[in-house]
Amino acid sequence: MPVNLHALSVQAPIEVFMTPRYRMLIGSELVPAVEGLWQSIINPSTEEIIAEVPQANAVDVDLAVQAAQKAFPAWSTLSPGERSHYLWQLAQGLEKYSDELIQLESTNAGKPIKLVSNGDVPFAIDNLKYFAGQARVIEGLGTGEVVGGYTSTIRREPIGVIGSIAPWNYPIMMAIWKIAPALAAGNTVVLKPAPQTPLTSLKIGEIAQEIGLPPGVLNIVTGGGPEVGEPLVIHPQARMISFTGSTATGKRIMGLAAHKMARVHLELGGKAPLIVLADADIEAAARGAVVGSYVNTGQDCTAVTRILVERPHYHHFLDRFTELSKEVRIGDISSESTDMGPLVSADQKERVAGFVDRAQAAGIKLHYQGTVPDGPGFYYPPTIFVEAPTDSEIMQEEVFGPVVVINPVDSVDEAIAVANDIRYGLAASVWTKNIHQAWKVAAALQFGTVWVNDHLPLCAEMPHGGFKESGFGKDLSRYAFEEYTIAKHVMFDLSGEAEKGWHFSVFGD
Ligand code: NAD
Repeated sequence: MPVNLHALSVQAPIEVFMTPRYRMLIGSELVPAVEGLWQSIINPSTEEIIAEVPQANAVDVDLAVQAAQKAFPAWSTLSPGERSHYLWQLAQGLEKYSDELIQLESTNAGKPIKLVSNGDVPFAIDNLKYFAGQARVIEGLGTGEVVGGYTSTIRREPIGVIGSIAPWNYPIMMAIWKIAPALAAGNTVVLKPAPQTPLTSLKIGEIAQEIGLPPGVLNIVTGGGPEVGEPLVIHPQARMISFTGSTATGKRIMGLAAHKMARVHLELGGKAPLIVLADADIEAAARGAVVGSYVNTGQDCTAVTRILVERPHYHHFLDRFTELSKEVRIGDISSESTDMGPLVSADQKERVAGFVDRAQAAGIKLHYQGTVPDGPGFYYPPTIFVEAPTDSEIMQEEVFGPVVVINPVDSVDEAIAVANDIRYGLAASVWTKNIHQAWKVAAALQFGTVWVNDHLPLCAEMPHGGFKESGFGKDLSRYAFEEYTIAKHVMFDLSGEAEKGWHFSVFGD
């Protein structure tokens, strides 16, 4: 039952007692933190406490990694079919609890119910099913004689314990994107969700236990970056760190992982351009841009943030985009008609407001800013800046809110140059009816995903990942699966001779 923060001072003991508590999955048990500390979880749309979760530390992390290490030999030597079966069972478990997962994800992350029930939760389940299939498509390579008298084979082997660290913007999707390919490839996992949004991950832990996933194959620990994330990154038995989050944290993790030469898989920030060429369908582009800018309240690493429109259509596009921005329905996340919910936290709201204030202080023109509902919740309105210099903060830094810049450009080449003039390289789109222009721009853009005449859609079968400071490594698809394997060369001598022919050329007479 939700608790009103403001009521806590007078009714704390009873109300706190009634707050649901979720436990971590370590080995075969659902457990509290070793130190017995709990952290309150807030609904960003009401600011009410909706749950408590364990506040773990390095001791809990060590227990989780040890459980994963212990489970690795048996899990990694199951047949692909057996691992596939467990992942399919887990997907079915998520389907069984999908109503509860939808509610948890919506209230924990402040997402409109429509987005979670049509997007996040079914997409996460679909991903799990995809990787249940992918588990059975593991294959190495064999060769004939590479060198005379020898033959070789390449084994794709699992890496070991994977430390997976997830952000708060798509909690259940990020958890599954990390868990599914890693387990499918035969690794075991310790997952740390973001401290703001751990509820669906902890529910996945309960479901894993219910479907009988072998103990230690999946472990879930909750807490902050320094307290739980860093001990996981530096743990000697965590042989790979799979991280999705900000570029700043990604750089720190890469540095820490270097000390033990662990692999890193980094999905980091973005600042996506959307390019509207002179021959584009302006109505389609404006509609796509509005959804791409404001979906998930702009808290999306691929969100549209820099719109570059060829000058002949600049004012037409700007007018239409602004009209559509005014139609975005902001408010109650439980209503099917709500398009945009709050930001995830008070901190995030302050951060977004800071970017907007600084842009205005720098003289950048605020073209439009909407309004938000009165009352509680970390709501922030759709906000449009225009004609911002390419080197300004609002054009260069990831805001992670419903804030967009629209600039005119004088040529296709200028659009490409401005789009690429950024340290990020996650996603971009180009809108045109000319197939030649579409190919030219798509090839020239330095981004991991380029959409033509759309912006945002991803699917389990195709890879997602960045260029430049958006990181490296791919989520989704067989490319993600391969990320969680290591290639081993096994070379067979076919001669059976004690003295190999090549010995004489380098050793002895
Ligand atoms: P964040 O970097 O603050 O935190 C991400 C996770 O890392 C959290 O679980 C956090 O607790 C943990 N963490 C923080 N400091 C740590 C440390 N020193 N060591 C280990 N773990 C640590 O990011 P966020 O604010 O939660 O998420 C938003 C960011 O995620 C944005 O930059 C967004 O672009 C990015 N993101 C990228 C993708 C992608 O696919 N590229 C997808 C979603 C989000």
